[in-house]
Amino acid sequence: MTTGTSQDPFQLLRRILELEKRKGFQDTAAAGGLERLVARNLLGWLAEFPSQKARLQELAALFRGYADRSPAARAELVEKALAVLDGSASVPAEQTRRPARPRPAARTAPVRVDRAVEPDDPVTVLPGVGSQRARQLEALGVTTVRDLLFLVPRRYLDYTQVVPIGRLGRLVRPGEEVTCSVIGEVVQIETRETSGGRRYVSVQLRDETGTIPVIWFNPYIARQLEAGQRIAVSGRLEGHGPYVRFRNPEWEPAEAELLQAGRIVPVYPLTQGLYQRQVRQLTRAALDLALPRLEDPLPPALRERNRLPSLAWALEQLHYPETLAAAERARRRLAFDEFLVLQLGLVQRRLAWHAQAGIAIPIDRAFLETFLASLPFQLTGAQRRALEEILADLAEPHPMSRLLQGDVGSGKTVVAAAAALLVHRAGYQAAILAPTEILAEQHFRTLTRLYHGLPGGERPLVALLTGSTPERDRGSILAGLASGTISIIVGTHALLEERVQFRRLALAVIDEQHRFGVLQRHTLRSKGENPHVLVMTATPIPRSLALVLHGDLDLSIIDELPPGRQPVKTYVVPGRKRTQAYEFVRREIEKGHQAFIICPLVEESEAIEARAATAEYERLQREVFPDLRLGLLHGRMSPREKEDVMTRFRDGELHILVSTAVVEVGIDIPNATVILIEGAERFGLAQLHQFRGRVGRGSAPSYCLLVSDASTETARQRLEAVASTTDGFRLAEIDLELRGPGEFLGTRQSGLPNLRFASLADLSTLQAARRTAEDLLRQDPLLAAPEHVPLAELVRALWTRSVADVS
Ligand code: ADP
Ligand code: MG
Repeated sequence: MTTGTSQDPFQLLRRILELEKRKGFQDTAAAGGLERLVARNLLGWLAEFPSQKARLQELAALFRGYADRSPAARAELVEKALAVLDGSASVPAEQTRRPARPRPAARTAPVRVDRAVEPDDPVTVLPGVGSQRARQLEALGVTTVRDLLFLVPRRYLDYTQVVPIGRLGRLVRPGEEVTCSVIGEVVQIETRETSGGRRYVSVQLRDETGTIPVIWFNPYIARQLEAGQRIAVSGRLEGHGPYVRFRNPEWEPAEAELLQAGRIVPVYPLTQGLYQRQVRQLTRAALDLALPRLEDPLPPALRERNRLPSLAWALEQLHYPETLAAAERARRRLAFDEFLVLQLGLVQRRLAWHAQAGIAIPIDRAFLETFLASLPFQLTGAQRRALEEILADLAEPHPMSRLLQGDVGSGKTVVAAAAALLVHRAGYQAAILAPTEILAEQHFRTLTRLYHGLPGGERPLVALLTGSTPERDRGSILAGLASGTISIIVGTHALLEERVQFRRLALAVIDEQHRFGVLQRHTLRSKGENPHVLVMTATPIPRSLALVLHGDLDLSIIDELPPGRQPVKTYVVPGRKRTQAYEFVRREIEKGHQAFIICPLVEESEAIEARAATAEYERLQREVFPDLRLGLLHGRMSPREKEDVMTRFRDGELHILVSTAVVEVGIDIPNATVILIEGAERFGLAQLHQFRGRVGRGSAPSYCLLVSDASTETARQRLEAVASTTDGFRLAEIDLELRGPGEFLGTRQSGLPNLRFASLADLSTLQAARRTAEDLLRQDPLLAAPEHVPLAELVRALWTRSVADVS
């Protein structure tokens, strides 16, 4: 069979594909396989049939990786290719009448399409996008042209600085890191093995000025490369002088258009079956066709004030930047938009809430002092400050909306208790909402204890309402709330039920807020006439981040621990000393104490994590602590099962509680003196600190053992940071610096809308957006002016989405 280029490639391919079909898709129709056949001939074909470039490239793309597909997948590809040969593939129904489909090529001739493309059109309006391609794009979260416009490149390859291979040796000095790109011809491909048995691919790459070795520790690459092929390689050089080489660089086929352009090229996220070049063509097409129709939501004046480029410029430079600085400027503009929309929503909520009429609570100062004097301790300065901020809000005729942040053990409860007491004193009711029954019980007991020192007649009537409150008690509690004889109620979600009615609810306190969504906050509010709301959280968040996460709330911070606390002693334990860590735990238990063991974090899913935790629990029970009573807690257990095991642990029936990260929230077990955290390096520092807060709540010395098999320097540094400070806010900041906000917040608990461009570390952009949001809403609270309508729509879209996520 001849594969010469003088033959019509389409006829040739059709014959071969029919043959491949008859042979059962074994990739035997062409010597060396279909992919090679196409790759080998592509350049020749392109030279000979330039008008068919798009089709040829589409065909070539289809056969990439063909050899590695299953026969079933190959069958699909062959059908697809035959359809391309017929000229009917990928063409949306309304376009089938057009004979030739002009296809956009990266950075070449402008694309002509018969009708304008709207940003919100489905991707299938773009040339060359059929249902299969659409499915692949959907896996990337791309369904509309707009999604393509906003598809963020993972990084860029900089071909503006392509270095002649002969100069590379002089480029690198010992000890220096140099990243650069070269373009050359593959002259030799070998698969070798290191002495340790790892297979790697070694290639010689040649241009007119010299040759350089390139190695990849990925044997698969050998199958993608071919001698004589021209590729572009980009990455870090290792070695120096004559011994310089590339190790595991990025690479891609050096396409003519890319080389001519000598550009900075985007590298996109991909999915199975989708190639860089295809995505590049699509974003190019999307930019060419849809940018003219895309509205810039920022009014020009606002753009100027913040020195931001236009949206069209930003998107062009996001994908095909002229310089890396331009790409950064583009990112900043897009980040600003994200922050702005988020802040507009938050500030709008806050303003709307504050504008409502609320209940002004007259503050009985003398009574407050009586209460404070009755406590067995003095409030810390930070507690006092936070309390005063809260009382000032309560006295206003507008509802409070405040977040009280304080490290574990900083004494938030007593602050809330004082506020609730003054509300009671003024003749109103207060509700305290906890995320679990055990926490609700704990609060109930704490409150009862705190109010105990008050003169008999002045104590408020406090009640507890949870899912397990017996039916007959429930009746009298509901009656007491409705009539107003109960002035402070502590409870769980049960408080949110329809039948719970208050006589005069004036304050709602929500503890450990991250378990509750915006909607629950709303439900609780609706139970009174705009009650004041105080949200408490023990997750220390740097101020910058609090602005984003809780920008609809005012912020009070308790940044000081009560005096005389014994700090929890924290040790980093390498995996090989695990046995000693277990011995340590055992000794604490022999002293009559209890222990937590936290299982490693499993990101994939809660189900997998639950399985892993169960296995670890069984192993510990069988092999390490066969004589002790262990309990297991994980996220897949029902709330009832969780409560049950927590209660048994609290009541001392269990020696050790083996748990996943679900144990995090404010449970108080004074007899627990040691917490052993497995796979500690996988958790955020703030989270480790939260775990650590589970112990050290009694009078006995307490310990936190961070067990880690990780040997990297960063892992060690992070854990040492936890060991070295007990300041939660300081750790949160370090964590934010080290891991970035996404990681910092953890995937499961952030509740943050997806930020694509904005980085929470980018404080200046965040603050600019916050200021802009406040200015805008001052002028135009409803964003009703015509120039603000696009922004208003974005805000609405974002918030409808996030609220839907909560429910
Ligand atoms: P958290 O902020 O974690 O909710 P708590 O309110 O549970 O902290 O307080 C932790 C413990 O510290 C409680 O036993 C509480 O009685 C005690 N406490 C609170 N404030 C003070 C203080 N100013 N001085 C001494 N102990 C205090
Ligand atoms: Mg608490």
